[in-house]
Amino acid sequence: MSDTTITTGKVVFFHYTLTNDTGEVIDSSRGRDPMPYLHGASNIVPGLEKQLEGKALGAKLVAVVAPEEGYGLRQGDPMPVPKDQFPDEMEIMPGMQFFGEDPEGRKFPLWIAKVEDEQVLVDLNHPLAGVTLNFDVEVMSMRDASDEEKEHGHPHLPGMHHH
Ligand code: ZN
Repeated sequence: MSDTTITTGKVVFFHYTLTNDTGEVIDSSRGRDPMPYLHGASNIVPGLEKQLEGKALGAKLVAVVAPEEGYGLRQGDPMPVPKDQFPDEMEIMPGMQFFGEDPEGRKFPLWIAKVEDEQVLVDLNHPLAGVTLNFDVEVMSMRDASDEEKEHGHPHLPGMHHH
């Protein structure tokens, strides 16, 4: 097996530009450091991870990822929440993620869909749910993951203090 092929247990660094179906750029790593991830550990959306499998160092590809293998299909509509339910100091902006808590105390992610005068529309769907993702990718570098990285299921980078 080549040492410069993406397989489970590799830490991979890649550049990407993400566009939606209408060609609108949603996000890009260009101008920043390449994005690191641990292959086989579900650090990135399943459809992209699948299409990176077996790719070589330097590979360029456009990975088209259906919602089912991206951020999922949309379920339900945004719900209105009165603005005064949010803390005063919280600056509420569309696209912002926060966490709600169900009656059993389990946390779940929510996103701000829209901010109106008296209320905020809150969505259980990721902003990219239901969107076909087009990743324009370039594989910049890769290395074998350490045992600790494999155990944790994510890459460890210099200057990263998350433990
Ligand atoms: Zn870790």
